[in-house]
Amino acid sequence: MDYSAKLIEPQNTIALIKAHDFSFKKRFGQNFLIDSHVLDKIIRGAEIGKEDAVLEIGPGIGTLTQALCEAAGEVTAVEIDRDLIPILEKTLAAYDNVRIINEDILKLDLSAISEKPLKVVANLPYYITTPIIMGLFESGAPLLSITVMVQKEVADRMQATPGGKDYGALSLAVQYYAEAEIIANVPPNCFIPRPGVGSAVIRLTKHTAPPVQPKDEKFMFRLIRAAFAQRRKTLVNTLRNDSSLSYSREQLETVLAAMGLPAAVRGERLSLAEFAELSDRLMALS
Ligand code: SAM
Repeated sequence: MDYSAKLIEPQNTIALIKAHDFSFKKRFGQNFLIDSHVLDKIIRGAEIGKEDAVLEIGPGIGTLTQALCEAAGEVTAVEIDRDLIPILEKTLAAYDNVRIINEDILKLDLSAISEKPLKVVANLPYYITTPIIMGLFESGAPLLSITVMVQKEVADRMQATPGGKDYGALSLAVQYYAEAEIIANVPPNCFIPRPGVGSAVIRLTKHTAPPVQPKDEKFMFRLIRAAFAQRRKTLVNTLRNDSSLSYSREQLETVLAAMGLPAAVRGERLSLAEFAELSDRLMALS
């Protein structure tokens, strides 16, 4: 077995998997990339250079990691599956700028990963895309960008604007923290095994300052979550139904009227700037 072989070539991935008798674990969202064009697009899209520190979430057998080690200054690869660690130690043996951590990314202290601000690059496990992205943004760890493969539908939600069916709490969180750009659409045949859904690579470039400055960011996101908890209801009704908020119907309708919004407006109509204004106006009442 030639462990220095580039795993992006499907025959090398297949040979490695056979040699190690590795069985894919669905519960960890394991779909390994085997398309060199997509790999190039990820590396180019992530704009990585030798001055950069990269965090890779879920290196798998090390396919993307090999390319990241060649492009970046330092790479930290966090993999939950214990069975993959001995494989990674072999497929990445040629690189001295990589650190492999056997851990659940959702439990890791991200601020301890590097002295430098991070560029996150990953082919994400789809079952935890949203908690990973939200965890990265909310961790407060210094981040420059997040370039990730996600389910196509999730990429669309991240980029959605008010009024559409894809618009929701994730769209607003992404807008608040970053500029989103879809870099590539990726069909299922670019992976082993093939996922049941289409995928897309999206780059989220962190804002230096958020586009709105609500007085209390946490409160604004509480309102956003409440607003989309029951999409079909009016904003007033969803906010009235949230037990952690205690505004009367009259108070809510008065605030909406002051913002020039109808009493029966739904949350999906409000922009980020409007949620920030709503948040400040409601806080002023308490
Ligand atoms: N990077 C590889 C590639 O592109 O071929 C593998 C990508 S695969 C879609 C997702 C990887 O994330 C798997 O290796 C899986 O074991 C790992 N993973 C799943 N849940 C994880 C978690 N909570 N923390 C860290 N890694 C995780």
